[in-house]
Amino acid sequence: MREVFIALEPESPLRTGKVKPKSDYLDTLPYLRGSVLRGAIAEWLKVNGREGEIEKFVQSIRLGNLFPSSDGDIIPLPFPMTAIECKTQGGFLCEGGHGIRDSLLIAIAYTELKKLGAIFPVPMSLRCRKCKGRMERVSGFYTQKGDCWQKVSVELAMQTKVALSRYRRASQEQMLYRVIALRPKQAFVGRVRFEDEDAFSVLCEAVENMGVGALTTRGFGKVKLRKSKASLMGVSERLRQFNEKLEKVWFDLADLAKQVGSQVPDKPVGTYFSVDLLSPAILHDENGLPTLKLKLLLNGQLLEPVFWSTQPEFVGGWSTAWGLPKPTSLGAAMGSVYVFRTEQTVDEIVEKLETLEANGVGERTDEGLGEILVCHPFHLEVEQT
Ligand SMILES: [Zn+2]
Repeated sequence: MREVFIALEPESPLRTGKVKPKSDYLDTLPYLRGSVLRGAIAEWLKVNGREGEIEKFVQSIRLGNLFPSSDGDIIPLPFPMTAIECKTQGGFLCEGGHGIRDSLLIAIAYTELKKLGAIFPVPMSLRCRKCKGRMERVSGFYTQKGDCWQKVSVELAMQTKVALSRYRRASQEQMLYRVIALRPKQAFVGRVRFEDEDAFSVLCEAVENMGVGALTTRGFGKVKLRKSKASLMGVSERLRQFNEKLEKVWFDLADLAKQVGSQVPDKPVGTYFSVDLLSPAILHDENGLPTLKLKLLLNGQLLEPVFWSTQPEFVGGWSTAWGLPKPTSLGAAMGSVYVFRTEQTVDEIVEKLETLEANGVGERTDEGLGEILVCHPFHLEVEQT
């Protein structure tokens, strides 16, 4: 399958995703699930009397999630949970903040060296390099254009609507509800994989004619779709840089431990890689029980993470066909990070990791859940950016 990035440019507010339990308003996710585009393909084929082809098209195209970007040709990514910013002056340097950096490689080296018996003169605590203040977790999305990094957030619009009965198409007891939608100011950029150009043109036709998300019949979700010029470093390059950078961070920390008499190796042994969730994932362990801890089967070897950072998140869904929310499950949140170590070399695992990235992890991957990046590029940003 070919992989391209696509840019979806909204022309009216978009609604998708999330329903707050027991409340009178419909919330929205700050990004677009790949599944909303798939819904548009199905509807478009149905409208054109091509129901028989739905299955074939849905099989021949894989839709990743689309994240907000100020520019359709720049890739936005969710911050990994290990990204931190200054508590008093948050934000990237070129936004006037004290800088945002990633703490994962330091955390890996620190925990692995401790397992190997290292003793550190001081406990690990990362301080802002500008003001020496405390750091805290950053969430949301970012883009990078040259040397300039920026946080991206979605703009929300609220509208009040009259509820329609799905059966009688009449207003139901004059019920009002408020709808929160994404304002049509930014672009949404994400990955799509498809087998032939034909599938891609059907996707564009479908999305532009049917709209995306909920309430398209009420003026929401009008969009334009095109290929984006954005591209991402390949898995093998990310994997290589991740291990190179880890080696540097490890060397410095090992040196610190040696100064107080610890006998520890100068270099990490084996290959390390991270799996980063770009969307929530519903995971189960080998006994079928729900879990937040990802394990991987890699070339016949079951790997447990040596380090991970996650938190639970309720995962719902929206059935476009029924206009109703889907049941919620508990999943691992977007931004979760799992680090694995293997004795296998980069060359031995790269192909498997490419396949893993293409397929995602856990359940309901066809709805955009469990989308991953192997070695999220932000982990390389150990310095403040
Ligand atoms: Zn600071």
